[in-house]
Amino acid sequence: MTQNKGKALIIGAGIAGLSSAYYLLQKGWEVEILEQNDLTNNCSYGNAGMIVPSHFTPLAAPGVVAQGIRWMFDSKSPFYVKPSLNSRLISWGLKFLKHSNQSHVDRSASAIRDLNLASSILYNEIAQKDGFDFELNQNGILMLYKTEKVAQEETELAHKAISMGLRVDILDKAGIQALEPNTQLDVIGGINYKCDGHMNPMKLMQQMISYLKNNGVIFHTHHQVKGFETSGIYIKAVIANDQKFTADRFVMTGGSFLPELAQKAGIKIQLMPGKGYSLMHRPENPLSQIEHAALLLEARVAVTPMDGQIRFGGTMELASHHDKINMKRVEGIIQSIPKYLPDFQVKMPKESEIWFGYRPCAPDGLPYLGESSRLKNLIIAGGGGMMGLSLGPVFGKTVSEIANEQKPTADIHIFNPERFN
Ligand SMILES: Cc1cc2nc3c(=O)[nH]c(=O)nc-3n(C[C@H](O)[C@H](O)[C@H](O)COP(=O)(O)OP(=O)(O)OC[C@H]3O[C@@H](n4cnc5c(N)ncnc54)[C@H](O)[C@@H]3O)c2cc1C
Repeated sequence: MTQNKGKALIIGAGIAGLSSAYYLLQKGWEVEILEQNDLTNNCSYGNAGMIVPSHFTPLAAPGVVAQGIRWMFDSKSPFYVKPSLNSRLISWGLKFLKHSNQSHVDRSASAIRDLNLASSILYNEIAQKDGFDFELNQNGILMLYKTEKVAQEETELAHKAISMGLRVDILDKAGIQALEPNTQLDVIGGINYKCDGHMNPMKLMQQMISYLKNNGVIFHTHHQVKGFETSGIYIKAVIANDQKFTADRFVMTGGSFLPELAQKAGIKIQLMPGKGYSLMHRPENPLSQIEHAALLLEARVAVTPMDGQIRFGGTMELASHHDKINMKRVEGIIQSIPKYLPDFQVKMPKESEIWFGYRPCAPDGLPYLGESSRLKNLIIAGGGGMMGLSLGPVFGKTVSEIANEQKPTADIHIFNPERFN
């Protein structure tokens, strides 16, 4: 029997919050979760479900700004920043510019790779547990390209990945086609990141919630955290729905809402919501299935086999939270699919069939993970950006290690949550 360690209160029931609950529970903590919505949707449900050690380059990297500016003038492009005098966007943008250089990439790459590799192993362990069957498939992700320019860039990146110890195959047209015998690929080649994988995130979230409930975790839904009561360098209580919730340890997740949440505790976190869309497609010919998750590189579209169907996802709109669906950008996703996968003629979906979520994007492209230096009983886990699902379990395990006053297994020093304070 694990000894009771005390009570942990987690704010936010996305993958970061649920994973934290999972690992705290294993170490004997009594866990409660406060969630402002219900337990049916947030960024962790409708995403592309990819586990990505391949994504060791942070979003802030050389060339991204120039490419982003070119895309801003195309209404169907995969990237958009809404020009605005919003001070948060300006401050975020200046920091993003500052970090978009090679030395930042070189400093961060191995730490990001290690986090994702550790998380991939943890996903494998979770999948072995009773009650979990979330279509985990660690058979790789295919990076597909149609142009010589992208082929050259991706081959260089693949060589870097190989030099960093990742399992990667660089393939010509015939080689990549051989991996997908049931679907025609109209590409000039591709990279198989064998270190990657995919899953069904909706099933993962539902199974994780059931597991946590069955093991005594208490969920308070429709409880938006509005404030913190502190005494010196400690949080005493969290205020939600005019109630006070006390605990020994507090864990702040919050996804793309993390800046507003942290501000209530006097902590500055820089994030912009990066809105993206996804939709499900059932192939007319059931034999036209794909075996691997893939990224259609020039179009920046993600393709994931899921539940007998295929999920397509993409776009990154950096702007404040707003629930409007930009059908032009969805059209951009739909039109790009048959250019790579001619067997898939996907019809334009109705608005009600489109899912959207807000990626929590930090200006340097790195997550926020660690203990607060201002409030000693607070741990922060978020800012996973484009790889927040992939990082879920390692976030959770690290949170639990910190709560237990153990040295985190992962090297997290560059992910200091207060680095922009
Ligand atoms: C189209 C798309 C595709 C993606 N594909 C992938 C992928 O293939 N692989 C990958 O790794 N990542 C992917 N991502 C990114 C990934 O989905 C996110 O990074 C991840 O889900 C973030 O998890 P989270 O727990 O930090 O935040 P969330 O899942 O957003 O959860 C945060 C929770 O905190 C709650 N909350 C916030 N403020 C408060 C408050 N004050 N009080 C109470 N509750 C609060 C929110 O309601 C929310 O439920 C994708 C994203 C998009 C949009």
